Amino acid sequence: MTYRGRFAPSPTGHLHFGSLVAAVGSWLCARHAGGQWLVRVENIDPPREMPGSAESILAALPAFGLAADAPALFQSSRLAAYDDAFEQLKAAGLAFPCWCSRNDLAGGLHLDGHCLAPPNPQRPPAWRLRVPDQEIRFEDALQGPQVQNLRTSAGDFVIRRVEGLYAYQLACVVDDAFQGITQVVRGNDLLDSTARQIHLQRCLGLPTPDYLHLPLALDGSGRKLSKSGQAHPVDPTQPLPALRRVLDFLELPVHARARTPAELLDHALAHFDPTFLPHCSERIAA
Ligand code: GLU
Repeated sequence: MTYRGRFAPSPTGHLHFGSLVAAVGSWLCARHAGGQWLVRVENIDPPREMPGSAESILAALPAFGLAADAPALFQSSRLAAYDDAFEQLKAAGLAFPCWCSRNDLAGGLHLDGHCLAPPNPQRPPAWRLRVPDQEIRFEDALQGPQVQNLRTSAGDFVIRRVEGLYAYQLACVVDDAFQGITQVVRGNDLLDSTARQIHLQRCLGLPTPDYLHLPLALDGSGRKLSKSGQAHPVDPTQPLPALRRVLDFLELPVHARARTPAELLDHALAHFDPTFLPHCSERIAA
């Protein structure tokens, strides 16, 4: 099977250090395997999006030497496919409408397999997936063996929100399958989503790709970079310093005399072996 990897940014801001780590890591894994590298813009949550962000990210990638093998897929163009998956889950009796408020759940998980609040015809429901009391196991290529019981870790999780927007988990698995992704390489903040995604793949009869979660980039005070208040944007007009820092973060060789992003990436690729990537869940970015 041909290797297909992807980079799937949410257009909530400019490309930042953490997302450049995911882009470079997924690109190197794909090129090392002689495979394809695709880009998907995860724009299914308009309230969280920043105008111009998708264009800014898509323009920045080639400036960092990262060229995709196909035009970017925009999730906003895929709503019919999410509708189909949602109907499939409903028809299989796996999804249920839920009017529970945050207060009803009292900060806990939704575990009952059906909504506890009375149906309210005045208000559209969220839709949740009923999860089984069963361990989901997978081997992460970097983080090692993983096991998660969705009942105790996630509960009956939302696949379609009250506003009618599809949840990231649903859109992600539908599109990973649609794009024929064989390995998902992304930041370790998403390791926790993987069991939910594998469960959804099983419910929908979709293949499960391999997973590799890269260490999460933290700032000096130990907070996730994108959440730390400083966005740590990277400057595509000066790509070399940020690219050097990303390679360093991934413990890859940095060509001291490289004068273009392509030279830096080619040098890193020539020495690349995914098993040598840092086997840690997070690290401080220099
Ligand atoms: N869109 C997600 C993000 O930017 C990443 C999704 C993924 O790689 O699965 O955090």
